[in-house]
Formats: sequence, C-alpha cells, structure tokens
Amino acid sequence: MHHQKALKQLIEGNRRFAAMKQKHPHQTHAHRQELVEGQHPFAAILSCSDSRVPSEIVFDQGLGDLFIVRTAGHTIDDLVIASLEYAVFVLKVSLIMVVGHEQCGAVTAVLTGQELPGHLPALAHHLNPALESIDTQADHAIETAIKINSCYTARTLINHSEVLRQATEADQLRIVPAYYDLKTGVIELLA
Ligand SMILES: [Zn+2]
Repeated sequence: MHHQKALKQLIEGNRRFAAMKQKHPHQTHAHRQELVEGQHPFAAILSCSDSRVPSEIVFDQGLGDLFIVRTAGHTIDDLVIASLEYAVFVLKVSLIMVVGHEQCGAVTAVLTGQELPGHLPALAHHLNPALESIDTQADHAIETAIKINSCYTARTLINHSEVLRQATEADQLRIVPAYYDLKTGVIELLA
C-alpha cells in the first residue's frame, strides 16, 4: 500500500475513534484465521508505551493491521530500529508514524531533571538531544518538548538507518511524527 493511502487509513481510523464512531475492523474469528498464513500490516507505529495511547484502539484498527514498537518516550536504540527495518524491509510497510502524546511522563521527567534509579537514566540519555533546545520556563514547554521529541525521533530513524533512509529516498516509505491529544483523542501530524 502506498504511504499516502496508509496515512489516510490511519487518520480516518483515528477520527472515528476520536468521535467514538469506531468500526472495530478485523476482529472476527474469520479474520484471525486468514492471518494464520501471514501478516501484511499497512503501517508501523513507533509510540510511547503510555497506557493511554494503545495503537490499535486510538487508530481503530484490528488484527494484522499495524506493526507496533513501543518504548517510553518512543526512545530508539538498535533493537527498535531493527524492528522497524523488519517492518519496512521484510513486511514492505510504507509508513512509520512516530506517536508522542500529551503529558508524556518520560519527557516530563527528563525535562524537570528528576533523579532516576536503575536503567532509567538511559531514557534521559536518549531523550536529551531532543530536549536541549527547550526553554523550560516558556508557556507550554512540556507540550513543545514532546512535539520536538517526536520530530527528533523521526529524523533520527532516517539518520541512523540505511534501510529506512533508502526506502524513504525511493519514496517507498514515509516517516511521519505525530502528537496525540489525551482529551480529544485526536492525532495531530507534525510534518
Ligand atoms: Zn509517554
């Protein structure tokens, strides 16, 4: 599926969800059986792990529709990139949407400089380059930071992956950063 059509399908699903007019597609017994043969997801989602942004629900999709990678703050490392390369190179997905969201705890924690135990500083390490330019005193600083982080992740995917870059240059792939509003349920495209 061309990325233009994939994007349209995602946005239409999200608007159904936001309006509480879901179709709940591809969730029948018959469809589950069809998928045993193989998967052909039409888009990949790289989202924050936040429990309020479950991809199939907010895009009103079903089984076999979306290839999904989720980490706190949609931070990326080699394994995340490899998973997305699999979606593009093997499954021929033409669209990756990076989904940041309102009130992201990961971004907020880094922005406010909280002391974090265990492996959590790794999150800050990955998020920091995106957040360096933020004026934390400005109005809507956190919302701005979350949006900048989403765009940063989309850019970094291209910069760190030969597979994704080549697919993008050949117009076989589009990577689009987005922002999810918790109150309205609406996905806003950032590029
Ligand atoms: Zn989050």
